[in-house]
Formats: sequence, C-alpha cells, structure tokens
Amino acid sequence: MLTTRHYKFWFCTGSQDLYGDECLRNVAEHSKEIVAKLNASGKLPFEIVWKPTLITNELIRKTFNEANIDEECAGVIVWCHTFSPAKSWILGLKELRKPLLHLHTQYNEEIPYDTIDMDFMNENQAAHGDREWGHIVSRMGIERKVVAGHWSDPVVQEKIASWQRVAIGVVESSHIRVMRVADNMRNVAVTEGDKVEAQIKFGWEVDTYPVNEIADCVDSVSQSDTNALVDEYYDKYDILLEGRDPEEFKRHVAVQAQIEIGFERFLEEKNYQAIVTHFGDLGSLKQLPGLAIQRLEQKGYGFGAEGDWKVAAMVRLMKVMTAGMENAKGTSMLEDYTYNLVKGKEGILQAHMLEICPSIADGPISIKCQPLSMGDREDPTRLVFTSKEGHGIATSLIDLGNRFRLIINDVDCKKCEKPMPKLPVATNFWTPQPDLYTGAEAWILAGGAHHTAFTYDLTAEQMGDWAAMMGIEAVFIDKDTKIRDFKKDLMLGEIFYK
Ligand code: MN
Repeated sequence: MLTTRHYKFWFCTGSQDLYGDECLRNVAEHSKEIVAKLNASGKLPFEIVWKPTLITNELIRKTFNEANIDEECAGVIVWCHTFSPAKSWILGLKELRKPLLHLHTQYNEEIPYDTIDMDFMNENQAAHGDREWGHIVSRMGIERKVVAGHWSDPVVQEKIASWQRVAIGVVESSHIRVMRVADNMRNVAVTEGDKVEAQIKFGWEVDTYPVNEIADCVDSVSQSDTNALVDEYYDKYDILLEGRDPEEFKRHVAVQAQIEIGFERFLEEKNYQAIVTHFGDLGSLKQLPGLAIQRLEQKGYGFGAEGDWKVAAMVRLMKVMTAGMENAKGTSMLEDYTYNLVKGKEGILQAHMLEICPSIADGPISIKCQPLSMGDREDPTRLVFTSKEGHGIATSLIDLGNRFRLIINDVDCKKCEKPMPKLPVATNFWTPQPDLYTGAEAWILAGGAHHTAFTYDLTAEQMGDWAAMMGIEAVFIDKDTKIRDFKKDLMLGEIFYK
C-alpha cells in the first residue's frame, strides 16, 4: 500500500558561455562527479539525475518544463558553478512546478593557494553566482530550500536527504484521497474544516460514502478469507482472554478480520489511501473498527477518528514521506488523553478508543476484547501495546476559517512509570518540549487539536518546509519556545496570512 512512484531528483548546474568551452567542459565534468558521489554516498533516499548545464533562457525553460511533466521527477536541485546571469532563469522559474532545492556548494573544498589564478576564480565562483541566482528566486517569491556547504560533507548530504522526503510529501500530497464513511462527530469544532480549500492547498480529495456501502463490502468477505486472517492474527499477536470464553473471543476477533479485508478491498477498488470512521455512525457494522483500522494504518493507510479527515490525510502524508526509511520507528494518529502532573514526571498519556497504529509499538502486541464506553455495538477487539521511547513530532493541522495552520511540537516519548493493566488500549506517553506547561500553553494558544498526526521519523524542520511549500502557516513548539515570543509568532501569522 505504501508503494509510491520510483522518484528521482534532477541536478541542474547553472553556468554561462563567457568563459569558453574548456570552462564549460569542466563545469559539466565536475557536476557529473558531484552527482555520482552524492548517489554513492548512501545518504540519499532517492537518486539524483545529472542534467546538461543550463546556460540559456530556452534551455532552462525547456528543462524545467520537462521536469514538470516527468511523473518520476520529485524535485529539482540547482547549483551555479560559475556566474549565471539570473534574468535567464526568470521564464523557467515562473513555469517550474516541482519542489526546488538550491544547493550552494562548490567543486573544490579548499582554496588552491599555490595555483589559484583568475581562470580558476571565474570557473569556481558559486559564492558569487549562487548569490545572483538566489536573488532572483527571492525576488520572484518562490519557496525553496537553501543548503550551503561542501557537497562531500555528510551534514550537507543529510540535509539534501531530509529535503528529498519533504519534496516527496509535496508531490505525493496531491495523490491523497480520503474516504469518509461518517461525518464529523456532532458539535466537535476542531475536526471540521474546508474540504474545498484543502484540495486547493494540498491536493487532497475528501469524499463521503454511506457507511453501509462499505459494510456491505465487509459482509461479502468469505468465511474462509476471514478465518485465514484470524489465524494470522493468532500467530502474530498475544491473545489476552482475561476470563472471556476463547470461542466467543475468537468470534469477536473474526469480526475485525472481516472488516480489515472488506475495508481494504473497498479502499483499493475506489483508490483511497486514507479513511475516517465515527463510533456513532457504524451502520450495519457489528463493531467499531479497531484492530482492523490498526492493521490498515500499519499497511500505510491514513486514519482519522470521529470523521477527522485532516488527521487521516496528515497520517497518510507522513507515512508516504517516511516510506522505505531504514530503522523507521513509526507514524500514527494519536490523541491527548490525560496528564501526569507530578513534578519531574510530567507528560501526556496518548491513546485513542482503539485505533493507534502498531508501527509505533515497542515490545509485544496483544489482542484484547473489551466493551467500548461509547456507541451501541458489540465489544470490539483491538491491538494493545506501549510505544517506543525517543524523539518525535506531534502535528495538528487546523482550519482557522480563513486559512490553515500547522502546529508542530517536538516531543520526548518515554515509558510510563508503571504498567496500566486495566487500560485496554494502545498508548504512548510523551513530554512536550520545552516542558509540559509551556508546551501545553503554546499548543492551546495556537488552537491545536486533541487529535494529532505523530511520527518518530520526521523532523519539525521537514514538516515546516512542507507547510511552506504548501503556502500555509507553520508554528513550532520546541526547546526554544517562550510564550511571549510564541504569541508574537501567532500575531505575525495573523498579519502575513490574512
Ligand atoms: Mn478522538
């Protein structure tokens, strides 16, 4: 499900013909070598493809339009080896629709003190040419990432790698289709939003189906397919009967297996990558989808509870941005539930009724069957686990009426101090940066939701860069946050994004 296109990035070197053919030959050779070595570094998640040196308006415009229509091209990296008069780039830049990285580097690392002459200076003047180029991009108001440093530096390579995942988020955003099989929960404000504006800004298609259409698809799943999946569950997860009859328990598990298969068939057939449900609108479904949704999330589907389509799309987006990442620790929808306010042990217990993605699990995963305190269906089965320790980001995309705001909080995930044997749901526990009190105050001042799209595997910078590319406001709550400054950030956003 997580498979995306075989994306590549184009490497375009700027120059001009003022310095003769030998210089242009060197420029091409050097940029080819840089591309080859970047690809060989093992740092980049996506391949870089060398493109012929750009020196004329016509070629720049043509190359950028080829990038636009190449479905595998996820972004363009530009570097000016020599001076490259930037008016030549105006038409191309006006038409470029792919994410843009300005790699401000130079071929040599050290000044060749003994041999340097004016020919060398003319050939290796990125310090000069990249400033001319940066000027026109700024003047044209084009959003781009700038990375400065020698191309062989692992820090620079990691910055390029990090941006590549942002670029994938930008190009993949427009392919996200969210299926709603329920409306937003009655009277809830923060899960609402302008779906037309979301499609204009992010490209998300958010459609509704009557819940019984998907419930019929669930009903049509055969007993044998269902039983095979139940067997897989019993192999893979611990079974916590907790006094329930084993056969009755298994029947409850089978309901979720049938939902998993039925939902996935329905989503695949209709080409949706994210789904929302609502415990109060289940039609003929026998249980609130719990275990079923958890499994679908692990396969790469986005999910939002109580009709929260923004969280569903964000979870899908973050899963796509982290696809194929080595040692990924997981991405899930979560919800701020309850606090530990003991001094020195402060944190927020994260959970939901059922639907937390097992990609964030640490240690064994068990199946439990328990009544749901809300709704009117049979006791749903769900996967129960605790989550990994370490740094993560919690994000909340909110609709302020005239615009979207993305709130990004760096959080430190920890083990709960003690087990919680009576809590029948998967959990995470984190302390927001800079501390619980400042973090919670800033989150509330910004209007952040109780549902979040959470990941261990992306940085606040990446999500901020994604928001910038989407043309929306991002606010950051991290180790440097002070409430007085944060309120100024919000005030600036009010003016800038009016
Ligand atoms: Mn909820």
